[in-house]
Parts: sequence; structure tokens; C-alpha cells
Amino acid sequence: MKIDVPVCTPPKTKAKNKFIFEKKPVISGECRGCGICAKYCPEGAITIQKGKKTIDYDLCKGCGICARVCPFKAIEMVRR
Ligand code: SF4
Ligand code: SF4
Repeated sequence: MKIDVPVCTPPKTKAKNKFIFEKKPVISGECRGCGICAKYCPEGAITIQKGKKTIDYDLCKGCGICARVCPFKAIEMVRR
């Protein structure tokens, strides 16, 4: 089984974290609002207000966990 290992680089943004991955998550229109991504995000970067998901890129490390746990494949990891 092939495992896609993300590349880790020093931060180029105002992120508080020492290291961040070079990709960031983007939520698509396929999102059903289940909230699983927010539950599993280790940085607490995803918030849900009035059914709308918001990703705080200052907190997000780009680990990709949210994209992996989304049952609807609604999160895509793109280059920062
Ligand atoms: S896990 Fe996927 S479908 Fe559920 S809220 Fe997050 S992006 Fe939306
Ligand atoms: S990539 Fe990681 S840190 Fe960023 S929102 Fe997803 S789970 Fe949270």
C-alpha cells in the first residue's frame, strides 16, 4: 500500500507553530456539514458556525488529517 507522506517545511506564514506542512486544506462544496473534520483536527483549526466551516490557517499545520477523515472527500490539500 502506497502512503503519501507530506513534506514538512519551516513556516512562511504567521503561523504560531514551528513547523507546518507545505499544503493546506480547502473545503469544497461537497461538504455535508457533519463536523468530523473539526473533531479530528489536532490544532482546533476548523470551526463550524451556522453550518459554515472555517479553517484558521494561522493554526492549521497542514497535516492533512481532516482530508483523510472526511467521509465525503470534501477537503482537498493544495499548496500554500
Ligand atoms: S468531514 Fe467533510 S463533510 Fe464533514 S464537515 Fe468536514 S469537510 Fe464537511
Ligand atoms: S490540515 Fe491538519 S491542522 Fe490543518 S485543518 Fe486539517 S487537520 Fe487541522
